[in-house]
Amino acid sequence: MLEVKDIHTYYGNIQALKGISIKINQGEICTLIGSNGAGKTTLLRTIQGLIRPRQGTILFEGKPIETVSPQKIVRELRIAQSPEGRMIFPRMTVLENLEMGAFSRKDKLGIKSDLEYVLSLFPRLRERIAQKGGTLSGGEQQMLSIGRALMAKPRLLLLDEPSMGLAPNLVQEIFSLIKQINKERETTILLVEQNARQALDVAVRGYVLRTGKIELEGRASDLQTNEEVRKAYLGEG
Ligand code: ATP
Repeated sequence: MLEVKDIHTYYGNIQALKGISIKINQGEICTLIGSNGAGKTTLLRTIQGLIRPRQGTILFEGKPIETVSPQKIVRELRIAQSPEGRMIFPRMTVLENLEMGAFSRKDKLGIKSDLEYVLSLFPRLRERIAQKGGTLSGGEQQMLSIGRALMAKPRLLLLDEPSMGLAPNLVQEIFSLIKQINKERETTILLVEQNARQALDVAVRGYVLRTGKIELEGRASDLQTNEEVRKAYLGEG
């Protein structure tokens, strides 16, 4: 579905991505793990069209998208993101935040049924539908951010650290909801996480990113038993 080929991305003179190549197959959950500053967020932003790579190509269903505008990437290609730090609109209500996620759509009935789906997935958002986004707890804001991305009816959903800052029981809940979305909506998911253990549990395949390069890649189950991954990312040995 998505093929990133030899991507080089810079912030001014700082090179954040140094020749990244990854593939995401239709229908799967693929994870990208790596420590702070490895370039995970930069890769998501590059895929979404928010930063232009200096070199390399990104193919979505075989067509290059690295020069397509971020608006078109959401509206026409249906790639949506729940960004790091959630980035919800604090002064807007939960409902308004969710409606913003559907700004690129005109199919009113579809929007209505997706809103119902999101509210059934996250009953806490239904309870707080008229509350301002900024008054929600961290976990609820995370749900709102994922819900808002779902309102774009994405075919490819990019999740940037959905478990960050959440209490352990909520972390479990978020990961099982990610699995549920992937199954029920047949949404392909690229999951960026520092929580390598849980991410490798829900994913089919994974990539380990280190200082702008892919260090390891493979089936999630193989990465889980890989000696280097266990030491560096699973806190074992
Ligand atoms: P984290 O989990 O901490 O967000 P990450 O793996 O997502 O880490 P990135 O945020 O993609 O990493 O950062 C990759 C590199 O690019 C880092 O060295 C970072 O300092 C640098 N970087 C990120 N954003 C900018 C920016 N706006 N200007 C300059 N350098 C940046």
